[in-house]
Amino acid sequence: NKQVIFRDYVSGFPKESDMYITTDKTLHLKVPEASNGVLVKNLYLSSDPYMRLRMQKHGVDLDGFLASYTPGSVLSGYGVCKVVDSGHPDFKRGELVWGITGWEEYTLITSPEALFKIQHTDVPLSYYAGLLGMPGLTAYVGFYEICTPKKGEKVFVSAASGAVGQVVGQFAKLMGCYIVGSAGSKEKVDLLKNKFGFDDAFNYKEEHDLDAALKRYFPEGIDIYFENVGGKMLDAVLLNMKIHGRIAMCGMISQYNNIHEPEGVTNLIYLIYNRVRMQGFEVFDYYHLYSKFLETVLPYIRERKITYVEDITEGLESGPAALVGLFSGLNIGKRVVVVARE
Ligand code: NDP
Repeated sequence: NKQVIFRDYVSGFPKESDMYITTDKTLHLKVPEASNGVLVKNLYLSSDPYMRLRMQKHGVDLDGFLASYTPGSVLSGYGVCKVVDSGHPDFKRGELVWGITGWEEYTLITSPEALFKIQHTDVPLSYYAGLLGMPGLTAYVGFYEICTPKKGEKVFVSAASGAVGQVVGQFAKLMGCYIVGSAGSKEKVDLLKNKFGFDDAFNYKEEHDLDAALKRYFPEGIDIYFENVGGKMLDAVLLNMKIHGRIAMCGMISQYNNIHEPEGVTNLIYLIYNRVRMQGFEVFDYYHLYSKFLETVLPYIRERKITYVEDITEGLESGPAALVGLFSGLNIGKRVVVVARE
């Protein structure tokens, strides 16, 4: 059983050498007697920014969801898996599921109740690590539940070409909003405009004055900001929100590698001047909405009203680089590690 092991706690930018590949030769492809767990074969692993937060010694333990990884143990995260043996009455051999699993070829999941069964296989299976999994639900919850959008509103999303951002942009378009995204390269900006149908997009790395850039795209201000990056972008957005605007605080990837000394955000007083509602959320509080989400998004996929760009890396060995690369924007779209295809 090939595995990605977390070597030791990280401070600053994560490196590939913070993880290593090993092979555990003790694996038996059976669930132990008296266990009601399931043994899964991991197919697609989701490489996610929050995993960096679990790599620090003092994690951000939100009810255990973001607890620190243990040095010397297998990395874990979301994945799409096939059940190969089951001691649980609700799971059968051969069924497909998604949920938290190990970064390894096979994982014994001892609390399978938290897994989601995959019932619709007319769409790419890897989507359950992205569009139809945790990142897609995050976009759905953040946009529809937290931002309470209305037709015609002006929406801005950062990290717009990523796993979450590309879905937010397309939801905004389907809602009849004006949507602008920021991303870190020309290729990504082109993708936003030409593939995902954003009204406009810009490369934040080429803007020395983010406030001026936002004023260019939103001369009358922003109704909704879907926050993925934090830091200087957030500070500039605060100067450009409309009265009664909403900000969904989804992530702050620009701060994850220096979480204990975050970059100062100086313009918070504008929340008061403009009566802006700014709300943080965590997707795991909203899993009860998953079936409603699927009912909304599956038809959009089938009718080609939503598209999804994935950045696939091959083999478990590619896992450490796939994860580390998120922090320098090397991924174009949702980064998924393929361990096996069936
Ligand atoms: P992405 O697929 O967007 O990948 C991360 C991207 O972030 C990179 O490609 C890069 O794009 C951008 N980035 C990296 N470093 C910086 C930086 N210093 N400044 C600005 N941009 C940077 O990731 P996801 O879509 O999976 O996640 C997006 C955000 O949503 C993250 O902050 C994540 O933690 C958060 N999240 C929150 C959840 C919740 O429940 N609250 C659930 C899931 C995700 P670029 O080239 O454009 O810079």
